This record gives sequence, C-alpha cells and structure tokens, in this order.
Amino acid sequence: MSKFYGESEARLREIFKEAKEKAPTIIFIDEIDSIAPKREEVTGEVERRVVSQLLSLMDGLEARGKVIVIAATNRPNAIDPALRRPGRFDREIEIKVPDKKGRLEILQIHTRHMPLQQDVDIERLAAVSHGFVGADLEYLCKEAAMKTLRRMLPELKLEEDRLSPEVLDKLIVTAEDFDNALKDVMPSAMREVYLETPDVKWSEIGGLEGVKKELQEAVEWPLKYPELYKTIGYNMPKGILLHGPSGTGKTLLAKAVATESEANFISVRGPELLSKWVGESERGVREVFRRARQASPCIIFFDEVDALAPTRGMGGDSMVTERVVSQLLTELDGIQSLQGVVVLAATNRIDIVDSALLRAGRFDKVIIIPMPDKGARREVLKIHMKGKPIAKDVDVETLVEITEGFSGADIAAIVNTAVSLVLQEFLSRYPKPEEAKKHADEAIVTAEHFQDAVKKVRSSREGKPMEKVTVPYYR
Ligand code: ADP
Repeated sequence: MSKFYGESEARLREIFKEAKEKAPTIIFIDEIDSIAPKREEVTGEVERRVVSQLLSLMDGLEARGKVIVIAATNRPNAIDPALRRPGRFDREIEIKVPDKKGRLEILQIHTRHMPLQQDVDIERLAAVSHGFVGADLEYLCKEAAMKTLRRMLPELKLEEDRLSPEVLDKLIVTAEDFDNALKDVMPSAMREVYLETPDVKWSEIGGLEGVKKELQEAVEWPLKYPELYKTIGYNMPKGILLHGPSGTGKTLLAKAVATESEANFISVRGPELLSKWVGESERGVREVFRRARQASPCIIFFDEVDALAPTRGMGGDSMVTERVVSQLLTELDGIQSLQGVVVLAATNRIDIVDSALLRAGRFDKVIIIPMPDKGARREVLKIHMKGKPIAKDVDVETLVEITEGFSGADIAAIVNTAVSLVLQEFLSRYPKPEEAKKHADEAIVTAEHFQDAVKKVRSSREGKPMEKVTVPYYR
C-alpha cells in the first residue's frame, strides 16, 4: 500500500473483481486500520480515496452473495466509522486477550511436541501468564526450549553429524527453563508502549489562545532551552491537568506541546491502563515512565485519568486502581524538574479525580479548557475548511452562529460530514473513475451541505447524555 498509493484503489478493485469471479470467496484484510483510517484524521487525499473506494466496493457486494469480507484490526476505533455499519461490516467479533483457560489451551498446543519434565506445571504457567496473547505464549514455549538447549550446550557434541540418542534423551524442558523464559518474555500488551512523534502545530488549534500561551511558557520553552531555565532556577511543573468537556481539543493540545517542543509523545488512556495490563497495571505505569525517560525529552499524556479514580462504591476493583494511582504518584514524585519528562493528563470529571493526584508537586497545574466561544468556533471552522473545495455561497459567520454550543470535535465532524455528503452525491452521479476524474471540479461543498451536516451532527449528539463538568473544588 505505502509504495503503490496511486495504484491501491485499482488494486482493491481488482481483488474484489477476482473474488467475485472465483466465488465463493473470503477476502481477508489484515490490519484494516492502516488502509481505512478515519477520514477525518488522515491528511492525504489518497488515503481518503482508498477508504471511499473500499466503501463503494463493499456496497457493491450483493447481500447473501458468495463473497464475504473479513477484516482484522487491533485498533477498531481508528477505522473509518462508515465501514462499521450494517451492509458493510455488519458484525464485529471481539477477540479478547485469552483468560486463564484460554492460555492453558494455547500452552497445551504449543507444548504438545515438547519433551517436558514432570515438574512442568502447565496449569500454573497459564495462571501466571497474565496479559499474554497466543503469540506471546508460543514465544514463551520456544524461549523455554532455547533455555534447555543453552543449558545442555556443553554436553552436546555439535561437531558430530548426529546427536546420539542418549544426548537427545537428556534434552528435556524443565520447570526452571520455563521460569527463566517467563522472566524474558514480556506480554505484547506491555511492549506496546507506543512512542509517537505527533505533528500538530499550535496553528492547527482554533481559539484557546490563553491556554496555548500557558503551555508554551510552562512546558515548551523549558523543554527547548533547559540550560537557560536551569540557570534561572525555574521549576517545571511535573504534571499538568487539562480539564474540560470532551472534544474541546485536550488531546490536540497535548500533541501540539510535544510537536512544538520537539519532544516524543506517549499517550495512555486511563481505562486502558486498567484493562490492557490485566493484573499488572502498575507494571504498565512503570513501563510507560521507563520508556519516557529513555526517549526524553518526552511528554506522557494520560487521557481520561478520572478512570483511575478509586472506584469505591462504583463496582470494579478498587484495589487495582489504588495500586495504579500509588504507582503513578511514585513515578511523578521521582521525576526531576527539567530532566525532560513532562506529564499531561486530561479529564472531564475532575470531581472524581483522586485528590492525591492534585496535590502540590504532582498535577499541580490545572488548566481549564472551555467550550469554544464565537471567535474560537470561527477559528476552528477555518482550520477545518482549509484546503477543501467550499462554494462561494458558504458564509462562515452563519456557521459560527448555528454552531453555538458545539465543541471543536463537533465542528470538525460537521465539516467532514459536509464533505462526505458531497462525495456521496458526486460518486453516485459519476460512478466510473474516468468520469469522476473528468468532473472532479464539480465536487463542491455548498451551504446546503453544511446545513444538512449540522443537522446530522446535532442529532447524533442528542443521542448522547449531556456531559457533566464541574468546577474544581480544591485550592
Ligand atoms: P478531547 O481530547 O478534548 O476530547 P480532541 O483533542 O481529541 O478532544 O479533539 C478531537 C478532534 O476535534 C480533533 O482531532 C480536532 O479535529 C477537533 N478539534 C477539537 N478542538 C479543536 C480546536 N480547538 N481546534 C481545531 N480542531 C479541534
């Protein structure tokens, strides 16, 4: 895909054509997130066209036909939502990280042909390998076998062509080999502390001028000029908490701080810390900070930190969250000013954030991110309309008025919906690629498209309960 962008649409068409000719067929698309990312989030026209092509190919498949498309991803939320609809991918099957029983079965399969010593207790291995997926367990078995080989190496006479049966009989994997292998194999969930290099500029964030300035002074400049700040004895805040309704640009701000301070970026969602590192969440926290120190200057962004609030009385395992919070506090306390690691966090429920996190020397700076006012909405609209074919009859001021009460994310969704309405119309008028190419300049977003988009986004918002945002109570 990466190399053949221009050809990927054609390639997709070919695959579907071939599948139809040779039906019954199953088309399997692995890592679909990479070819069909959310169109609102991709920057290239080409990627967008590939997604549209996939949509129209899937729409072209007959219901109960003999071609079935199965796709796989580990990032379902990164996929363009238009694909996750009836008539396209109608079914979603979540394949979870295996539980103890699942791990036992997988281990049994992979140890089937291994000569095991009596003391190897597969059930115990299944019980202690939290968070391991199938591939990790397979690797664990291989690693254990490698330990056996290494242990036996001195006795093996490798210069001989064949190993004698006596030696072969001694090649037995022991419980100790497995224990040693366990120390080396880390579950993939934990290896997945992704380091990102985001590419969001301050100029891509509409409004929020005061916030940008505050972040610039508190983080960007000190990270960029550590020597200077050291000499004047400046103490960087260790943690900054961004507080405001969802969709107001908190993630965007965190990414922009990283981009503009030329720092690496690690983003972790609160709920993910609890679910992904099943039973090992503190190790997850430690791993995040370890990776950040390695990659400093680095910004760690904890989204939805409120999920780490002690869940007392709310169900869930409060012991786990308490341990996670205390690990987080330990790590925050260990951060030295100006060592190049800064922690940003976001929440829309500051009222339930553990108060220990808000104490001085931790998240001691709280910045409130408001819903966009008129001026900010104008800016956000302009940012998202830039580079799109907008008709002359579209009046930005009218849009500013009718988007009262909408967040930045809603406004982005409006612009994208308007564009996709145009595309749908256009592609139904010119279904043939040659025609579409010839009439490309007719695909223009008009005021009417915007009106419809506002309606659509408003009605999809209305399905959601209003968010609760409370004013911070501390200090
Ligand atoms: P939050 O983290 O506060 O929930 P995000 O930063 O994830 O919100 O915003 C989601 C999307 O909404 C962004 O990717 C961007 O397209 C759009 N958006 C939100 N706020 C703004 C803004 N102030 N300026 C430009 N785009 C915005």
